[in-house]
Amino acid sequence: MHFTLTLPPWAVAENERLPALLPTLEDRMAAVVHFSRLNIEQQTGGPFAAGVFERDTGRRVVIGVNRVMAANCSSAHAEVMTLSLAQQLLGTYDLGGPGMPAYQLVVNWRPCVMCYGAVLWSGIRSLVIAGSGPELEQITGFDEGPIHPDWRGELERRGIEVIDHVLTEAALAVYRQFATSGATVYNGRGGTTPPGA
Ligand SMILES: [Zn+2]
Repeated sequence: MHFTLTLPPWAVAENERLPALLPTLEDRMAAVVHFSRLNIEQQTGGPFAAGVFERDTGRRVVIGVNRVMAANCSSAHAEVMTLSLAQQLLGTYDLGGPGMPAYQLVVNWRPCVMCYGAVLWSGIRSLVIAGSGPELEQITGFDEGPIHPDWRGELERRGIEVIDHVLTEAALAVYRQFATSGATVYNGRGGTTPPGA
């Protein structure tokens, strides 16, 4: 018994096409947002992507995308895909292990409640997001779950820096494109209305 998660072929090719170094946070987020757009245009997953980079050099480890529907796997969010791929590629379960450079996760919005936990367990030292407000849920209808009210402080107390508002408008443009595409919003419980919706 086993299961396998894979990136779609276009995402493998796009990873190979990117430069090895993406020096600025804007470079890194632009690549992540590009992947999120391609993921909906290619109909290979939801409008989410994430990248793992060496924080200080911008060396790219991998950029991954959401694969929930394609893989029949509700946990195949972009962050889980990407952190898991990075750990496989680097041969470690702990991206913050001894002797390793500081690794950074770049995501096109604040992680959902599941991916927030995955961030804590991953060993990354830095989280870069395009935004953290209600716009994602308002535009798309996804239910991101009951995030901790002091989510940012809880990360920082564990040595994970948080950098918000990087290319916010570019990320929102992809969510708007997704919302107008008629694609499925795959919340759990078969579309039960989330609290507050
Ligand atoms: Zn998630």
